[in-house]
Formats: sequence, structure tokens, C-alpha cells
Amino acid sequence: MKFFNNIFLILFFIIIGCGNSTKEINIYTSRHYHSDDGLYSIFTDKTGIKVNVISGKGAALIERIKSEGKKSPADIFFTVDAGNLWKVQSKGYFQTISSNKIKSIVPENLRGPNDEWIAIAKRARVIFYNPKKVSYNEIKNLSYEDLSNPKWKGRIAIRSSNNMYNQSLVASLISNNGIQKTETWAQGFISNFARKPQGNDRSQIIAVANEEADLAIANSYYIGLMLSGSKGSDQLEAAKKVKMHFPNQENRGTHINISGAGILKNAPNSENAIEFLEFLLSEEMQKNIVKNSYEYPILENVDPHLSIKNFGINFKEDRTSVADFGTLNPEAIKLMDRVGWK
Ligand code: FE
Repeated sequence: MKFFNNIFLILFFIIIGCGNSTKEINIYTSRHYHSDDGLYSIFTDKTGIKVNVISGKGAALIERIKSEGKKSPADIFFTVDAGNLWKVQSKGYFQTISSNKIKSIVPENLRGPNDEWIAIAKRARVIFYNPKKVSYNEIKNLSYEDLSNPKWKGRIAIRSSNNMYNQSLVASLISNNGIQKTETWAQGFISNFARKPQGNDRSQIIAVANEEADLAIANSYYIGLMLSGSKGSDQLEAAKKVKMHFPNQENRGTHINISGAGILKNAPNSENAIEFLEFLLSEEMQKNIVKNSYEYPILENVDPHLSIKNFGINFKEDRTSVADFGTLNPEAIKLMDRVGWK
């Protein structure tokens, strides 16, 4: 009888053991897209790997990882803007992503230092203009650098300097032109503002539609979001009134930033995490991502959403390493502060 009891005990532990080895992955995300939920469920269907999602603001998630320490269940940190990914890296929370497949898909300028984070999709920080107020000749060769010219006095809308997208744009200018030149540029640029910096990227586009400003700087995907109608009819009507311009086509190209992810140093499921990142870079998932987020794909054979494609896809992209937006972020913040960019 004791023999059978032992057999039962052994069987019991085998069953419990199997339960514990359920394949899973824990994703901490600050991306505010409901459509990402769809990606997770397709991944589970394909691989049998269960996806647990913790979403929140970037800073709160970083705090959480810090307090969880070595026992953190986080496998992947998924967010927008290279500056935010670099923040996580600078705390030493990421590990190098060892996947030749990923390296062969994601160009080097779209990966963090030591391959500790990688791009999943791209966004351009472009100029939106009101064709009633700005002629094609005035806009056609316009660069970010040109926006410090006094001819644009009182005509430019952009959000505040505490926004990471702007910090990364300024960091890219520092990377290309140096601190001194960028500071002189920023002094001229802020004196051309149509209004005190306020609101989000979409409200800059709306300001241009309402003729409060002639030009706005905002991320490319917002126009897709507004044109979809999902943000309401006012935003849809505003979006129809503006056009998109890709700056710096005559030289280095338009500023490109990323949505991206890294694998945490203490990730309990790092192999599943690599599989997940490879999955996001597959053709099928790239199509899915750009269809829902209006971003640009990493894979060149995938087209962005039609409403974004209509603005043109053959523009020249700035190949400045997105890693620079992180390393130069402190300089960018200090510079914006010195010139009084609110
Ligand atoms: Fe955004």
C-alpha cells in the first residue's frame, strides 16, 4: 500500500511540475494601443506561449522593475521613443538581444547600444502645414534647421520641451550639428512659436487646421489616427485641412524615431522573449502593427497603412543612430531649458 502511495505522490508532483512549466512571457508595456492585444493573442495561438501584460506609464513601469529587483517577472519592456528605451538601458535593466535573425532584420541605426533594444516600427517627426497659409514653394525644400529663420515668426506650433519626442528631435540635431549650432538654432526656433507650447501632437495639427499656426511639428502616425475618424469628427475634419512635409530631403533626411522593445536582464523567460520579438518582426505582424498604429514598418516589403502611404513612402530617412537620442537626451534637455523652450 505504501508503494502505491508513493506512486501517487510521484504522479502528483509530475502533474504539478508540468503545470509550472507552462510556457509564458511577461510584457511590461507603455504603448497605448488596444490593437497590441491582438498581437499577443495571435502569438499565443501560434506558439502556445501565454502572454501576461502589465501596462502603465513608462516611468511607473521602470519604478516597478526597480522595486521588483532580481525577482522581477518582466521579460520584455515595450515602449515608444528611443529616448525611453535608453532610460531603461541606462539603469542597467536590459540584456543584449542575441538573435542573428533580429540583427539581420533591424538595421544597426535602429538598435540601442550593445543591441539591448530594437525597433519594432518607425515614426517620422514631420511638418504639417496649412496649404492656405503656406505655398508649396515655401515648403518644398524646408529643413528643421530652416525653422529658426525669422520668416516663420509667429507661425510654428509645437508641444513643450518636456515631451520625449521633442527631446529626441533636438538630440538628433545635436548629433548632426553640434551643441553650439543647435543652441543658436533653438533660440531662433522658439522665437517663431505661434503660441506657448501646449497640448499633444494632435493639438498642434488642429492649431494648423484652425489657422492658429501655419506649421506644426508632430509625429507622422497621428494624421492616420485623425483621418481614421476614431478620434471624432472634429479631428477628422482638421486632418483633412493639413498636408504633410518631410523635412531635410535635400540633405540627411527626415528625423526617424521608433517603437521598440528590450529584454530585461532578469527575464525568467528570455528565450520566449526572443521568439516574441522575432514574431513582431515577421511580415504578417509588421502588416498588423502598421495597419493599427499608422507607423512605418521595419520590413521594407511591407507598406504602411494606406492613409499614411498616400502622403508618400519614398522619402529620405535620417539614418542617425536612434541610440544618440538617448545618450544626448540630457544635453538636449539642458539646451531646451537654456533657450527657454517651455
Ligand atoms: Fe505618440
